[in-house]
Amino acid sequence: MKAKSTPTHVHLETFGCQMNEYDSELVRSLLKQDGFVFTDERERADVILMNTCAIRENAHNKVYKHLSELKKLKRQRPLVVGVLGCMAQNLKEELTDIQPLVDVLAGPDAYRQLPMLIRSAMLSQVEGLNQKELAVDLSEYETYHDIVPDRNDGVNAWIAVMRGCDNFCSFCVVPYTRGRERSRVPEGIVQEARRIAEQGFKQITLLGQNVNSYRFGDWDFARLITAVADVPGIERVRFTSPHPKDFPLSLLEAVVSHPNICKQIHLPLQSGSDRILSLMNRTYTNKEYRALVDRIRTLRADIVLSTDLICGFCGESDAEFAETYRLVEEIRFHSAFIFKYSERKNTIAARKLSDDVSEPVKTDRVTRLFDLQRNISYERNREYLETTIPVLVEGDAKRSAAQGMGKSDGNITVIWDKCAISSQPGDMVSLAIYDASSTTLYAARPPVN
Ligand code: SF4
Repeated sequence: MKAKSTPTHVHLETFGCQMNEYDSELVRSLLKQDGFVFTDERERADVILMNTCAIRENAHNKVYKHLSELKKLKRQRPLVVGVLGCMAQNLKEELTDIQPLVDVLAGPDAYRQLPMLIRSAMLSQVEGLNQKELAVDLSEYETYHDIVPDRNDGVNAWIAVMRGCDNFCSFCVVPYTRGRERSRVPEGIVQEARRIAEQGFKQITLLGQNVNSYRFGDWDFARLITAVADVPGIERVRFTSPHPKDFPLSLLEAVVSHPNICKQIHLPLQSGSDRILSLMNRTYTNKEYRALVDRIRTLRADIVLSTDLICGFCGESDAEFAETYRLVEEIRFHSAFIFKYSERKNTIAARKLSDDVSEPVKTDRVTRLFDLQRNISYERNREYLETTIPVLVEGDAKRSAAQGMGKSDGNITVIWDKCAISSQPGDMVSLAIYDASSTTLYAARPPVN
């Protein structure tokens, strides 16, 4: 009788953005189809894969830290180590020099080749050749439209509607690591949304590096998000990450008029200085961005706005930083992701500009902006006090299993005592907000009238 072969166990770690989370779901699906088995334990794995991010220095450093931890494991037993995603694409020379640790490198457009690359690397190890397997070519067409992602459990399902980016913001590596923009066939996306609803997911988040530049024939993003929101059973639709240049009125109207499209827009500002915005190649001015915010708030005053900000970009003066500070004071976002500028290899800024703002100045600016935003977020969240809002239940709070956690329509975290309110993940519950911090709303059962 033929001996049954032992399955190859794969451990996959994901770093970075939601797009990487989604790509890991694709990778799991592709490898499972090919007979690979996944394990949560590094120690049991024959293959350890890291799906990496090259956008921020922090994520990049974390990957190097994890790789150095694997050195020891690899000395003890046969192990294939693979680096996937943006770092694989962007740092191919550097990573292949980490001898003999990394065996497989696969860029974001090469995941279909992964089963073959892993098997070749395993074979090469058995034969003592320890050859590196590389697939890092970018594609103009790959959208993985036919791959059903192996989704994480939960209330939210991601759908990537487009890949790549043509914007070339000068600080960003994405156009180099993920290639040119390409959109998926709309009918396939709507079909996927129907399947997601049938599986019991309550929320869909449409993803893309520049999600609102989606275009396929005469479908634009407004038409696409409307079609997804019309799928029965989907209670909430979100999207990320948009670019301020792609917000026609039709999209804003779709957001405000559809009850199940969340009244929340992430609108990356990056800087309030026109000179810095131009150096960043963001293609809008302070005035145009402000006008877009006004347009959105005229349509829907209570919309929740969040943003991304970079402090200490090349040549940013005190006065230019003050313009960002003033704009943040004026707009009063609900929340903001605030970063120190860190130069990324191969970007336009790395090639043509000088990363000349000192580290202490960057730190000081980030701290000042962070303090400002924390106060604004606190005041914004206190506006919900004594109101009753719909909350989509996600599960237990991170800090205590005695507390439930969910999200408001505006994507603000809401927490309550489970002994007072019983609910299941996926329930939509009405909760009364009695307290708020800069990051969290605290809820109780609403009073009975
Ligand atoms: S829009 Fe700019 S920041 Fe966003 S992915 Fe494209 S190049 Fe990067």
